[in-house]
Amino acid sequence: MDSPPAPVSPTLAGPPADAPTDLPQAPAVEKSYLVQRIARLKFGTYHVVGYSVAGEETVVQVPEMNVCFDVGRAPHFALTSDILCLTHAHMDHVAGVGYYLSQRHFQGMKPGTVLLPREMERPVDNLLRAWRDLERQETPYTLVPMGPNELYEVRRDFGIRTVRTQHGGPSLAYVLISIREKLKPEYLGKSGPELVEMKRSGVEIQYRQEVPIVAFLGDTTAGPVFEHPDVINAEVLVTECTFFEPDHKSKAKFGRHLHVEQFARLLPSLKNKYVLVGHVTRRTGVRRAQRILRKLVGNQQMERVHFLMDFDQSANAGDVEEANPMPPDGGA
Ligand SMILES: [Zn+2]
Ligand SMILES: [Zn+2]
Repeated sequence: MDSPPAPVSPTLAGPPADAPTDLPQAPAVEKSYLVQRIARLKFGTYHVVGYSVAGEETVVQVPEMNVCFDVGRAPHFALTSDILCLTHAHMDHVAGVGYYLSQRHFQGMKPGTVLLPREMERPVDNLLRAWRDLERQETPYTLVPMGPNELYEVRRDFGIRTVRTQHGGPSLAYVLISIREKLKPEYLGKSGPELVEMKRSGVEIQYRQEVPIVAFLGDTTAGPVFEHPDVINAEVLVTECTFFEPDHKSKAKFGRHLHVEQFARLLPSLKNKYVLVGHVTRRTGVRRAQRILRKLVGNQQMERVHFLMDFDQSANAGDVEEANPMPPDGGA
């Protein structure tokens, strides 16, 4: 066994006086490995901000919609969303829920609203009560238990729909839905005053149009979730595809995750303008995963496929924080 190095007194530290001065310098470290890199991608009028690596952490935010999907370990940017949608109970997706709520309260922000599968409500509530006791801070929160195929109306013009996913245990996908009131086509030629008069006399002149904007699947294997109209028609689909190597098929099956061969079969039936892939295992790596998928689906399909953790288009955490400044300290 090596003996420990002799302690060096501060006065003796540093190169001896006769040391050559042209020794190569250690290269400057551009970014600390402690700085977590966060993806920030733009799709049409929306941004997707997030981090997603299988088994490690998944947290994906759409800042314009005030919604965060899963919370990972509660990175700074996630705190700014008033609504949090939890897909399932695996630690890499929910670990930060207590921190998210507590920090928001501490920073003087309004209480977070957490949508989650109905079966998770009681255990998550127990967890949060335990944190209240530990922290002695009356952190307020709202849990909204959801079943599959329910619509949570955030506003008259915006709702969040749940879709059952196939991950074993209770798990849900969430779709952000723009709700629009449209004039029925048979009344298109009528004048303003005529329409007002018809409305006053009780005629239904409008119909409700739902437009799916962003669908977030969380963890799932292939199944009916990939046939749901809101999922396949959303402008942006955020899906997992965890495994890519031929000998990882059994891992995908066991963990109820997507293997690239399943995903390649599903992709042509998806009508989404943008398909964003996350939750890629570290065992493969994003660049290799992209190459494997491209080989299976061809260049044309790949034009709309993006990988969340491909950092070509993304920023580091500092840039994202600048884009979403925290409100001033609430003084709590
Ligand atoms: Zn996961
Ligand atoms: Zn999972």
